[in-house]
Amino acid sequence: MRGAVIYGAHDVRAEELPMPKILEPTDVILRLSATCVCGSDLWPFRGIAKIERPTPFGHEYCGIVEEVGRDVRSVKRGQFAVGSFFASDNTCPHCKLGYQTSCAHRQLVGGAQAQYLRVPLADGTLVATAEMPSKDHIPSLLAASDVLGTGWFAADAANVKPGATVAVVGDGAVGLLGVLSAKQLGAERIIAMSRHDARQKLAREFGATDIVTERGDDGVARIKELTKGIGADSVLECVGTNESMHQAIGACRPGGYVSYVGVPHGVTLEGADLFFRHVHLHGGPAPVRRYLPTLIDLILKDRIQPGKVFDTTMPLDRVADAYRAMDERRAIKVLLQP
Ligand SMILES: [Zn+2]
Ligand SMILES: [Zn+2]
Repeated sequence: MRGAVIYGAHDVRAEELPMPKILEPTDVILRLSATCVCGSDLWPFRGIAKIERPTPFGHEYCGIVEEVGRDVRSVKRGQFAVGSFFASDNTCPHCKLGYQTSCAHRQLVGGAQAQYLRVPLADGTLVATAEMPSKDHIPSLLAASDVLGTGWFAADAANVKPGATVAVVGDGAVGLLGVLSAKQLGAERIIAMSRHDARQKLAREFGATDIVTERGDDGVARIKELTKGIGADSVLECVGTNESMHQAIGACRPGGYVSYVGVPHGVTLEGADLFFRHVHLHGGPAPVRRYLPTLIDLILKDRIQPGKVFDTTMPLDRVADAYRAMDERRAIKVLLQP
């Protein structure tokens, strides 16, 4: 089969790889309908996160069940299923409390930029649809696998409630879907921070009411200005840099909530500063599995179209071009056809 392998900075290749096999009785093999490049894949691509050895890559996926291990009960051969980037048993205490990405038995699902994928702990990881979805729904269902689930967690963790004023830091796919999620959760005002035309347009389509182009202290000042000096009730930090985290905390009102879902790189927080700000902080790898049934339902009922974040589609063999397009911000997110 064909699959993507990352060798190091700016070096991703489509290669011939061995077919994945059932290794544990709880595994499933999926024939992928679509896969994609994640913003977090750009950290190793840019050389900021080190790659020790050539590694099959990618973690966002949906597809048709090709093979099931003998202990798998919840999905059947031929069904369409979506899963998250961490496999989870969905039965341990952390899972039951909705933190499947902290599952006692979690395993990273890697190598999803490929034609076939082994998904461990399939019963606790995959959610199958009742019927085969239409082709038009595939990009949105793929988005549910990570970026939508992560944007939704960002909104939920930032306590977005009906009538809330929300600010979203980051205009990548997760930030844009954070806007969509905040809208679905009833936010009245959604301020998207973006300085990029196409992304601003999509943010507005997803429900943003205001756009702030300033960054850092200027961005914070602008949000304060837009909220009568109070700050936002909920701030979604969807980047992971020190600047974006400080921008998010600075834009939040005392007593408000900041969620952070961008993988942190070089973020440092000062205790005394946090102490006097009075903000709630809640983030981490999004427990996408918690939200999958709800998100799949919203997509199949055409209530949301998160697949709009895929502004570019390429065949899997052009995976290197896909990384470059996202790295250079020519594409918001690239869908790969396996
Ligand atoms: Zn991802
Ligand atoms: Zn668990």
